[in-house]
Amino acid sequence: MTLKLHNTLTGNTDDFVSREPNKVSLYTCGPTVYDYLHVGNWAAYIYWDILVRVLAANDFAVDRVMNITDVGHLVSDADEGEDKLEKGAQREGKTAWEVADFYSQDFLKNSDRLGLVTPQHIAKATDFIPQQLELVRTLKAKGFTYQIDDGIYFDTSKFPTYADFAHLNLEALQAGARVKFNPQKRNHSDFALWKFTPAGEKRDMEWQTPSDLLEARRVATSGAAPDSADATSGRESGADSSTGPASVMGFPGWHLECSAMAMSILGETLDIHTGGIDHIPVHHTNEIAQSEAATGKRFSNYWLHNNHLKVDGTKISKSLGNGYTLDDLEKKGFMPQDYRMFVLQSHYRTEGNFTFDNLTAAKNRLHNWHNSAALRHQIHDTLHDDDNRGVDDKAVSLYATSRALVEALSNDLGTPEALMIIDEAFSRLASAKLESIHRHALVELLETIDDTLGLQLLGNSPDISDDAKRLIIKRTQARNNKDWSQSDTLRDELLDQGIIIRDTLGGSVWEYAA
Ligand code: AMP
Ligand code: ZN
Repeated sequence: MTLKLHNTLTGNTDDFVSREPNKVSLYTCGPTVYDYLHVGNWAAYIYWDILVRVLAANDFAVDRVMNITDVGHLVSDADEGEDKLEKGAQREGKTAWEVADFYSQDFLKNSDRLGLVTPQHIAKATDFIPQQLELVRTLKAKGFTYQIDDGIYFDTSKFPTYADFAHLNLEALQAGARVKFNPQKRNHSDFALWKFTPAGEKRDMEWQTPSDLLEARRVATSGAAPDSADATSGRESGADSSTGPASVMGFPGWHLECSAMAMSILGETLDIHTGGIDHIPVHHTNEIAQSEAATGKRFSNYWLHNNHLKVDGTKISKSLGNGYTLDDLEKKGFMPQDYRMFVLQSHYRTEGNFTFDNLTAAKNRLHNWHNSAALRHQIHDTLHDDDNRGVDDKAVSLYATSRALVEALSNDLGTPEALMIIDEAFSRLASAKLESIHRHALVELLETIDDTLGLQLLGNSPDISDDAKRLIIKRTQARNNKDWSQSDTLRDELLDQGIIIRDTLGGSVWEYAA
């Protein structure tokens, strides 16, 4: 089986070939932890969870980094505006460190509740400051950086393929952005690698800028930004440049964080890098430029991007208050797994639309699947399962379903097709006689669904109690005796225990009440 993935780098759905056989290094751009994640953010992480699971199903050992951006992500991706963490701190009357810690914990807790596979490395940007400064040092030594009043910038004109990844028209961007253009920047697309704490300000999160990274042109004044200087000409300003560079506090740019963490943990070339489509023109374009400028090697062989989720057909935005959190959904009676099912119903490259009707449909589908999974408690094990593989038609089709499911997912994470394959198999079971269902094949299918889609069907479809089973037997006897009133009483007793009975041609089947 070949695994096919849509690679933004080539624009094609390509056969996936890893750098080393059966091993994959994977980097996922993680959350900025200044607030609760909304349903759109969670959709992204659910899709990348499917990628990890499908890689495993294709016999790859995955080494994965997910970052946590706890500093440096400014309100505007173009290096302007406040740091989202510092802004969150003001909003909540806490320090940026407290805000980062609180929302990181919340992210990890809810990742667990959604059944997201825990990455091998969860990397906080604030834990990788030396690695980020080292990358700036390398870029400076290679002549890719320049310094202006508010920080050290990457000169994108020195990286000739800068526009390629996102097919940018730099001239048009430059012309269109004249108003907002920081006049000290050499090119509109240049971005901050390291920003200075503004003069007279004290940030919660700031680090000493190493003196060798600074232009030697001003007197040291702790906490102050360098003097305004015409960095492009290299002209030094300040009264006494002979005293050496200033002591300047600063913090990393968001793009720098991802490159430094990815390369320091996984190496200079990754197999796969993932993120949202919003990352293509700026964040990932900048990651590629600075990483490849530093190493001279390709940064990642495959780039995967998820499309965005809308809510009621509208972009998710704070001002509209439509950025529902998992807690919001739970208050309305939806569990994290219902939301996972909702996300899987759309392909990761199509634009999703969240509505409570769509979520209800997903919840109902998952409920039906729990009932199909519960059939395994109602069938006897067949001995010599292996001998039956080629004989039992129903079993053969279930084994084939497991394979078809992995194949659909291996075709660029085809989750909607995978769900349809499962629906078809389960509807065949619903009309089958219980004794014709091959228990081992059913269990194997359920395991495959749980492994690849993370829906936790086995864990969420428990057997009923012996007491309930006795009631079912009594009810069957009452029906056989045509004692309808006794049969109805027993049916109600079962319903009180959350169990309904479906009478089929092949006998009675119990199900969980909705
Ligand atoms: P942020 O915390 O803003 O960096 O976003 C975290 C992740 O969520 C990023 O990978 C974004 O691309 C992704 N994301 C943000 N909004 C949406 C959305 N509406 N639908 C899908 N993914 C989103
Ligand atoms: Zn990133």
